[in-house]
Amino acid sequence: MLRQQENNLPLLRFVALAGMDRLNHAVTTRHGGVSQGAFASLNLGQSCGDDPTAVAANLESLRESLGLTRLVWARQVHGTGLLAVDGHEAGLLGEADGLATDQPGVGLLIKQADCQAVVLAAPARGVVANLHIGWRGNVQNMARRGVEFLQERYGVDPGELWAGISPSLGPCCAEFVNHATELPQDFLRYRLWGDNFDLWQITMDQLCEAGVPMAQIEMSGMCTRCAGQFFSYRREGVTGRFGTVVALR
Ligand SMILES: [Zn+2]
Repeated sequence: MLRQQENNLPLLRFVALAGMDRLNHAVTTRHGGVSQGAFASLNLGQSCGDDPTAVAANLESLRESLGLTRLVWARQVHGTGLLAVDGHEAGLLGEADGLATDQPGVGLLIKQADCQAVVLAAPARGVVANLHIGWRGNVQNMARRGVEFLQERYGVDPGELWAGISPSLGPCCAEFVNHATELPQDFLRYRLWGDNFDLWQITMDQLCEAGVPMAQIEMSGMCTRCAGQFFSYRREGVTGRFGTVVALR
């Protein structure tokens, strides 16, 4: 990923998506905000125990740094629900694990602390989406559901989609000691050693099987538990949330 800075915020960007004029996107780190202690410093999560005033300031700083008119996010529940943002909503929407829009200026924010955010973009058509995919999302094939939603709602052909898989729990750290009950049998082919599974490859394959060309999918390859610049629930327990945002210009 590209390492860039907007105002005082260090941001990461997918190489292919960063070259698209109509797209605006970024992955935050834990740096550049005002939260303290376990939430230092750019915590975007409102329900993990941090001071709400600090979180609001961090969210506003992110919105301003990206030049967005508004930011929207949902209460993420590890399901497969998606919301289309086509009015003037701002802030917290309903319960969902995917957001989509064809409106410029609205940033779709997925909050994370080891789960994947998967950005989907059809730049020529002017449609973007952002999906929250933890292991439960992999089990429910949220990647396919996201692609189908863009097809149904906006007439997007999966072949025109570009995708970015954000920093998240890597194969080095995705240990599932209860995989026999938690993961389906056909995920065993993604078992690498011990009880470690490659969730990145699962998402990559699910996107490809849904029709997204492999050459148009970029994987960050950064593990949130290993790389200290992100909030990681597996590493820290009590911690904040970083985020991935995508918008149309
Ligand atoms: Zn790791």
